[in-house]
Amino acid sequence: MLILLITSTGCSSVVSREQVGARYVFLFIGDGMGLAQVELGRALLAPGDSLAFTSFPVTGLVSTSAPDRYITDSAAAGTALATGLPTAIGTVSMAANHRDTLRTIVEMAEAGGRRTGVVSSVGIDNATPACFYAHEPLRGSYYAIALQMASSGVDYFGGGRPEGNFPHKRAGAAVDRGDIDSLMHRSGYSVVKDSASLAAVQSGRLCIASAPSSLKGALPFEMDRPATEADLALFTREGIRLLENPQGFFMMVEGGKIDWACHANDAAAAGIDVGAFDRAIREAVQFYRRHPDETLIVVTADHECGGLSLGNREGGYQSRISLLHAQKLSLERLSGKVAAWKRSGGVSFQAALDSVRAFTGLRAGAADSVFALSVAQQRELRDAFRATMSSGVPRTGQYGTDDSFSPAVVGILNRRAGVGWSSNVHTAVPVPVFALGRNAHMFAGFYPNTAFGKKLMQASGLPGSLR
Ligand SMILES: [Zn+2]
Repeated sequence: MLILLITSTGCSSVVSREQVGARYVFLFIGDGMGLAQVELGRALLAPGDSLAFTSFPVTGLVSTSAPDRYITDSAAAGTALATGLPTAIGTVSMAANHRDTLRTIVEMAEAGGRRTGVVSSVGIDNATPACFYAHEPLRGSYYAIALQMASSGVDYFGGGRPEGNFPHKRAGAAVDRGDIDSLMHRSGYSVVKDSASLAAVQSGRLCIASAPSSLKGALPFEMDRPATEADLALFTREGIRLLENPQGFFMMVEGGKIDWACHANDAAAAGIDVGAFDRAIREAVQFYRRHPDETLIVVTADHECGGLSLGNREGGYQSRISLLHAQKLSLERLSGKVAAWKRSGGVSFQAALDSVRAFTGLRAGAADSVFALSVAQQRELRDAFRATMSSGVPRTGQYGTDDSFSPAVVGILNRRAGVGWSSNVHTAVPVPVFALGRNAHMFAGFYPNTAFGKKLMQASGLPGSLR
């Protein structure tokens, strides 16, 4: 069927119905989620369970390189996805010259009269979410980015807290215009920090919602999250409730901690966070079932992280991914326990090994067990333990920890499970795309991340995109 459209330039043009954009658009970004991370997430589900997004009817592939570096970062990659344009490493929706701002799909959606939402499991002013509402030359200018939330026009921010509001970040900012929460409140936002308060916010109200924060304002890793704390699915579900309206909406949801787990080479935490990301996507799929002709859901990643391999030299064909279920807490939390040992004056190596057994199943002796530590591995752990105990209290950041004991423990379990890592940072391995709903077919093929951004605008039917 053909229909007549009047474009913004006043010219009439004939377009096919397929080109009419989706009214309700979801973009899910698994930060650091290459194809191996997707498969790891699937492998760690309960038997018989599956990831919802891998059943989407259209798949594609995206190359992720930035113009100035073959291996990208979340700022350059996020800019490509949000604006359809290339930029330099570390740059948040500005041109590489750091003068020109690049128009984001959120700004286009706002101009088209739609509501908008930005959700992330990491700090809401981190690079990926920032690229959808802010323009800043340097991704590390957290406070300057957080300041831009209040004037962004975004209707709903959900998930992690603004890292820029932490006192040490504010102290380092070029200008201090006060507390971000107060600024958001004065700008008309409901500032809520628990699920009950979020549930009480009326649809159509401006809202910034965050959970009790873990490291750097992020939600906890899913494997560490107390059942009573909000997860990414809850922030997505509430976002749909707040944003739903006849004019439509655009919502970006980032599974940001997949990337952090991969930087730390923590396979269990990464795979289980892919499962949490999928549960957020399922909320959008439920919405799609109510509005199948008007909804588009696209799932992709900004880049791969860690050079994850499902199979390694140690195990050959003998991979045992299910061993990762024995890991009871993330590497981040294990490192926190090591820091507590240090602060309490230290523990014996035997006590440390008892904890390793409790948290991972790995143990000395029991040679017939898949969890048995070899003599060489016991020596590796002892050396790492001594190095850690003879240095300062370890610090943990988004890229892992600087103690050597907890990475050694998790590394042994990963290798035993048949998991390989070739890097602690991102790689240039292309990432997958999964699409469902209106105009999903546009996402088939293999194309650069800038083309992905343009496809998303076109599929959404945003102003100026039907050219
Ligand atoms: Zn990263």
